Order: sequence, then C-alpha cells, then structure tokens
Amino acid sequence: MNIGVFVCHCGSNIAGTVDTEAVAKAALNFREVVFATDTMYACSEPGQAGIVDAIKTYDLDGVVVASCTPRMHEATFRRTLERAGLNKYMFEMANIREHVSWVGKDKEANTRKAEELVHMAVEKLRRNDYLEAGEFDINKRVMVIGGGVAGIQAALDCADGGLEVVLVEREPSIGGKMSKLDKTFPTVDCSSCILGPKMVDVAQHPNITLYTLSEVDSVKGFVGNFDVTVRRKAAYVDWDACTGCGECATKCPSKKTPDRFNEFIGTTTAINIPFPQAIPKKASINPEACIMLTKGKCGACAKACPTEAIRFDQQDELVTEQVGAIIAATGYDLFDFTKYGEYGGGRYPDVITSMQYERLLSASGPTEGHIKRPSDGTEPKDIVFIQCVGSRDKSIGRPYCSGFCCMYTAKQTILTKDHMPDSQSYVFYMDIRSPGKNYDEFTRRAMEEYGARYIRGRVSAIQPKNGRYLVKGADTLLGQQVEIEADLIVLAVGAEAAKGAGELAEKLRISYDPYGFFLEGHPKLKPVETNTAGIYLAGSCQGPKDIPSSVAQGDAAAAKVLALFSKDKLASDPQVSGVKLVRCIGCGKCESVCPFGAIEMIDFRGMPKASVVETVCQGCGVCTAACPQGAIQLRHFTDNQILAEVNTLCL
Ligand SMILES: Cc1cc2nc3c(=O)[nH]c(=O)nc-3n(C[C@H](O)[C@H](O)[C@H](O)COP(=O)(O)OP(=O)(O)OC[C@H]3O[C@@H](n4cnc5c(N)ncnc54)[C@H](O)[C@@H]3O)c2cc1C
Ligand code: SF4
Ligand code: SF4
Repeated sequence: MNIGVFVCHCGSNIAGTVDTEAVAKAALNFREVVFATDTMYACSEPGQAGIVDAIKTYDLDGVVVASCTPRMHEATFRRTLERAGLNKYMFEMANIREHVSWVGKDKEANTRKAEELVHMAVEKLRRNDYLEAGEFDINKRVMVIGGGVAGIQAALDCADGGLEVVLVEREPSIGGKMSKLDKTFPTVDCSSCILGPKMVDVAQHPNITLYTLSEVDSVKGFVGNFDVTVRRKAAYVDWDACTGCGECATKCPSKKTPDRFNEFIGTTTAINIPFPQAIPKKASINPEACIMLTKGKCGACAKACPTEAIRFDQQDELVTEQVGAIIAATGYDLFDFTKYGEYGGGRYPDVITSMQYERLLSASGPTEGHIKRPSDGTEPKDIVFIQCVGSRDKSIGRPYCSGFCCMYTAKQTILTKDHMPDSQSYVFYMDIRSPGKNYDEFTRRAMEEYGARYIRGRVSAIQPKNGRYLVKGADTLLGQQVEIEADLIVLAVGAEAAKGAGELAEKLRISYDPYGFFLEGHPKLKPVETNTAGIYLAGSCQGPKDIPSSVAQGDAAAAKVLALFSKDKLASDPQVSGVKLVRCIGCGKCESVCPFGAIEMIDFRGMPKASVVETVCQGCGVCTAACPQGAIQLRHFTDNQILAEVNTLCL
C-alpha cells in the first residue's frame, strides 16, 4: 500500500504548538508511508489540490490528514480523494488540533503526541477496506414538531416546495407564544395580524396535515425513512363534526376553569376554543374541569351542540406517519419566577409575568386590552418592570441571556404609555441588549419619546404598602438605594427549554445542552442541523430567539429538507456492522442492544444468526461491544484495527 500523510498547520492553531514539519518527517518512517508533507491549510483549495497531486504523482492508495476533528472536515477530504479517483474510504484523520495543540502548550510533548496519533491513523488505514456506498429510497414527507411561528414557517416553506407535511402541535391550536402577544417589536405591529394569515395558510394548505392536541409517542428509523407514532389526545369532541360555533362554551356551567391561553389571568369554561383566531377553530374539553368527566353528570355542551359533536367517551388515538425528515420546532417555556423570594414568590397578585402583561395588553385578552390590576381591576399608574428574572443568574442555574426580554420590555413600556398616557414606567435592568436591526433605536424611543425611566440595578425586595407595592432596589450608576411605589410589577421572565424537551430529544436521538435546549450540529456552520441525519431544528428549541430569527430558522430548516429531498435516493454509509456467520451463536444480544432496530435474527441452515440491515444501521458500534463472540464487527472500526492502534501506542 502507498500511503500519503498531510500534516496541517491550521494557520497557527496547530503549528503554534506542534512542529508540523517534524511530524511529517517522522511519518516517512511509518510502514507503507511513501509521501509526507506539512501544509498551511489542508482544507483550502491549494491544500486539497496538493493532496490530489500527491495521490496521482505517488500513486497513493490511502491518505492520512493530520488536522482538526473529523466532524469538521472528514467529508471534505473524502471528496478530495474521490476527485483524485481514489476510494474515499481509504482515508483516516488524526485530530492533532482539538486533541493536541488546543489542549497542551509544551511544543515538544505536543509534537511527540501528534506523531503518535498520525502513526495510529496510518496503522488503522493499512487495515481499511475499499467500501462502496449503497443507495436507498427516500420518503419525501416531512414532520414538523411544534406549531409556533418557527414550525409554521418551516411547514409552509416545505409545503410550498411541494412536500407533504405533517405538523404536530401539543396545544389545541397552533400559534405558540406569538399568538399570545399583543404587538411585536421593533415595529409595534399587531402580532395576530402578521401571524393569523400564516395560521390560516397552514389550515388551508393542501399539502399540510395538522395534528393539534398531539405529541410524538415514538420514533423509529433513520434519515429518509422515519416511522413516527403520534398520540392524538382526546378532545372529547368530534372535530370533523365541530363547526367552532362556540355554543357549547356558552352553556358550560364549569366557568372557573384555569385559562391557560390567557396565562391563568381570569378563567374560562371546561369546554372552550382557546382564542378567537385558533387554528383549528375547534372546541375541546379540559377533562379535569369537566363536570361530566369528573362527576358523571351535566352534559350541557352535548345538549347545546347543534352538530352533536361531543364525545365524552373519546380516547387518545395513536397514528403512525412515515416521513423522511423531521423538523423540531418546540420552542421554549417561561421561567417560574416563584423561585425568587424577593419578588414575592408568587404571593402578590399584582406581581405578574411579562406574558401575563401581554394578555392584559391584548384586545382579545381577558380584559379586552384594558390594563387592569389582577387584585382589584383598577387601572395602574406606576408600573415597575424588572428584567432578567430567571436569566443571567447562575444561582438558579440559568446563566444564559434570554435574548428577547430587553426588547419586549421596551415594547411593553411603549404600549403602556399608548394605553395610559398618564402612566409612568420604571425599568430595572442589568444591561440593555438590543443588537438586532433597529433594536437599539427602539429601546431609545422607549426612554426618550415614551419617558420610560431606566434604572440600572437589581430589585432587592417588593413589599405591599397601602394597597400598592414598595419596590426597593439599587441604582448602581448613581450608587444609591431607590424606592418606588408601584401599582403593578411586571417580571421579564426568561426562557427555558420547553417542558418535555429532554424526553423528545431522547426519542429523536438528538443531543441537548445542559439547559435542555436542542444541540445544533455545529454552532456556526450547522445551526439548524443536528447530529442525527434527517433531523433539523428551528426556532427557540435550540436557544432563546426572537421572532425574526425563529422565522429565519424555520426557512433554513425547510431549505435543508428541500435540499435533502432534491435527490430520489440517498447514499447509505458503508461503515456499518457486518456479521461473521461462522462465529455468531445466535444469542441475540446485538439485536436487543441496537438502538436503531438494525439487526434481525435469521434462520441460517436451521440455526439462528444475526443479520444487519445495512441501510438501517447507523454505525454506532453498540452491537460490537455486546457480542460475546466478536462475531459482529463495525467496518473500519474492527477489533483488529483498534488493537493495531493500541499496539502502535503501547508497544
Ligand atoms: C412576553 C414576551 C414578549 C415577546 N415579544 C416579542 C416581540 O415583540 N417580538 C419578537 O420578535 N419576539 C418576542 N418574543 C419572543 C417570541 O415569543 C419568540 O421569538 C417566538 O415565540 C419563538 O417561536 P418558536 O416557534 O420558536 O417557539 P414557541 O412560540 O414557543 O412555539 C413552540 C410551539 O411548540 C409547541 N410544542 C412544545 N413542545 C412540543 C412537543 N413536545 N410536541 C408538540 N408541540 C410542542 C408549543 O406548544 C408551541 O406551540 C416575546 C417573548 C415573550 C416571553
Ligand atoms: S357546540 Fe359543537 S360545533 Fe359548536 S363549538 Fe362546541 S363542539 Fe363545536
Ligand atoms: S452499529 Fe450495531 S447497534 Fe449500531 S446501528 Fe448498526 S447494527 Fe445497530
């Protein structure tokens, strides 16, 4: 075998603490290495051209590149080999950046370690086989999970691109948080007016199947061929028959049902349509509040319904959908501020969240757009806004910035002045973060045109005083204590991962960060991809995002799916497991551990044997560790290859 070795400087990233020339020189002594050189940027156009030239000049039949992580550039270099006419699997990468230069400062030691890693890669490569990728069919349907603005955008783009889309939303209506907002920064345009038409488009699009009040139960399969089982929860109403007339709600005697859509400000009925613009506009029953479902009597809604749509015996239904790609767009939830004792821990009725305030501002909200104190229904005059409640606070495990709270607080002070010209807003803030287009100008308008008084500092206590509240804090710019008497306090609660995000990630087999937000494939280069092929991210499920960024991600995720589906077949990775039938004793251990269901037991001349379905196998290698016989081996990660690497290091 003729092996070529290319040692990358990565500018000074590697060459700063590794003698790359010495590594290349050492490589010339390794078995079957006929050419070795160092190169400034192996991945650049001249770098790749150098590899192609060397393959042709030295008749190489294997290449080792010592550079960065294979996650970054393995595919790049494999394509380089292909361009030179070499089997692209006759390639190995030694990671001398993340594993060497970035973790050690001693140049001599680093150089030695880099030589050893290159030597191991050469020994592994010597045992590689020529592999050929297979092909499999793609099911060109896509599932979008989460019907907030990001999911809606992704669904519409995919559907407009001609794909069949299944949109799964766990609430009775799509719309997400945006459907609860009154107006949106930085243009202060009405949220319903810009979101409403998109929601209607979803309902009317011939390519979109909408499942609301539904969640993903299980996911099987792989890119191009996922089987997703969706649990459609009982609404206790036949939605085919329901016309959304709302007669049922007017007759429902259970009128003290907590109103989730209005953030628990006010109450609703046990059967209700969550808001006037809901999509689908269908009634559903809250089983915990329904007198019929809890006590076995009532049925007022059934008597009132002109289409006889009520079904008290309705059960959850499981539906399985075959799709080739999945976009997760499950958004975020809001931080529970009752963890903060200094803000009253939830005891004071007029200390409310920013989202509750949005509902007070909204014409379709519980007060029809009149700002009223929850305690006594009076109009507040002095309103204190407190930012960073549950953001940028290590002590409660939320060290990150929620990104949009500075902006929506500025918006809320502007809207407050519009609603009540005699009111005065005070904003306690840590710093103002307003980096988007026209964002800084917007916060300045809140202060300069709308007279919001911004106080840099934290609030230390809120105490009730004569029917109002005394807000005590510090003004860190003036270096003095401040006390403000307020009628209403609005907490800019931060964003946290959506409830159940971790469980969904496990089902989708995607990673999530320590705070539960889904992890992108690469923070800069793959912001909407995940590490699981065929699964993409859009919106705040990946981290807090405002509406423009969520929409942009919805577009981007849809573009990725459309690009994936532009081919009729996908290439399967040949680096998968294979079974040596003579060694296999048919114990089935591999079958039981395979997380992808890629192994089936077959009958071979009357004996049970394992067999790998190559298009399903994802090459994770779990089975190889479970097999007591060493009968199942992962191509290019065989026991022989790993032993050869270990021997290179240790002997
Ligand atoms: C008080 C407040 C005011 C704001 N004002 C503005 C503003 O003026 N301008 C602006 O740009 N941004 C604003 N934002 C930010 C805005 O809410 C977000 O940018 C936007 O909602 C993100 O959309 P999304 O689709 O990613 O997430 P979401 O809106 O959270 O939607 C996610 C959807 O997924 C669903 N879901 C969750 N889990 C599952 C599951 N397992 N299965 C199925 N469905 C699931 C949810 O029910 C929800 O419908 C504001 C935020 C707050 C808190
Ligand atoms: S009365 Fe019947 S048709 Fe009308 S909203 Fe209620 S369930 Fe639907
Ligand atoms: S490597 Fe083994 S366990 Fe992993 S997917 Fe393939 S067959 Fe399943």
